[in-house]
Amino acid sequence: MLKRYLLAPGPTPVPPEAMMAMAMPIIHHRAPDFIPVLDSAKNGLKWLYQTKNDVLILCSTGTGGMVGSVNNFFSPGDKVIVVNGGKFGERWTKICQAYGLDVREIIVEWGYAVRPEKVEDALKKEPDIKGVFVQATETSTGVSHDIKALGEMMKGREDTILVVDAISALVAHDIKTDEWGLDVVIAGSQKGVMLPPGLTFVSISDKAWKKADTAKAPRFYFNFKKEREALAKNQTNFTSAVTLIIGLNECLKMLQSEGLENVFQRHARLATATREAVKAIGLDLYSKESPSNSVTAVLAPKGIDGQEIYKHLREKYGITAAGGQGSAKGKLFRIAHLGYADTFDVITAIAGLEMVLKGLGYPVKLGRGVSVAQELLMR
Ligand SMILES: *Cc1c(COP(=O)(O)O)cnc(C)c1O
Repeated sequence: MLKRYLLAPGPTPVPPEAMMAMAMPIIHHRAPDFIPVLDSAKNGLKWLYQTKNDVLILCSTGTGGMVGSVNNFFSPGDKVIVVNGGKFGERWTKICQAYGLDVREIIVEWGYAVRPEKVEDALKKEPDIKGVFVQATETSTGVSHDIKALGEMMKGREDTILVVDAISALVAHDIKTDEWGLDVVIAGSQKGVMLPPGLTFVSISDKAWKKADTAKAPRFYFNFKKEREALAKNQTNFTSAVTLIIGLNECLKMLQSEGLENVFQRHARLATATREAVKAIGLDLYSKESPSNSVTAVLAPKGIDGQEIYKHLREKYGITAAGGQGSAKGKLFRIAHLGYADTFDVITAIAGLEMVLKGLGYPVKLGRGVSVAQELLMR
């Protein structure tokens, strides 16, 4: 038998409390029993997002939330800026282009965060830019972009909205949706929220809703105005993902009893311990700056393929972490500390990593990284 440990940046482990709640017989989404369930989920999400705005609950993966955030607020030909610093930045460009938007990419070298001045310069050069798309955490490189600074930039611009893919960042990072002026913020169930895949959440500011009145991109399934009307009645436009929303309430309850500040501190503590342990082993982080608290991307040492490290972790020790994506495949591997994660997830990851590296012939002293992590996790 090989016991399995899930330490990937999505899907992430689901707490037993949520699994149990989701094992109950299904209820009907238009029956009165479901009204308080959706009401509670919608209010819990507002708390998590730190917003007074509506947070839509849609049945799809996170990418569906990204698609809806393009076709509900923009029209073909609209000029937009995409911050592209990795696999998910690339996805913004592809979605925007699929809907006929006129994309200006700000290419950021993988492993780095965007310089906010670059976005500001691009906005000044073309005042008719209608939107800026960015990741809060670029999961493929483990880097966080400064969405607070970008939000500041939006404040005086009535016709430009900031669209933030926070799919891997929400819960691990303090994201002040309203205070920072983030117009559209997208998350997904299988990341920080600790649920199986299948839900996406989208918060929408008044400024973004105004754009929805004139946006002409085609839409049917992701029709945010219809979802807003349904949400006001504690419904969704189509069949609600009843089971997942019941699970969502359990997860939100757990996060609420921990307290938002403590949730962020836990993620910061786990991320710091992971980074310092990896460095103590002698490896370098792939993220050259602003490493995320959701996932740690590590540069594979010279002569060792990052995919081999990822494969050995899984095949020999039952640890599912993640490899590299796109052009970074082979160059790195990634360890998540996101959602239902605590002290011994980090210890497991670091201990497994040391064993894998030793097995691959890398000169590692067993226990060096683990002891660094232990020291930090005792604080
Ligand atoms: C996981 C992830 C997505 C994609 O989510 P899916 O649920 O696979 O559609 C998008 N953006 C980021 C930053 C992610 O981490």
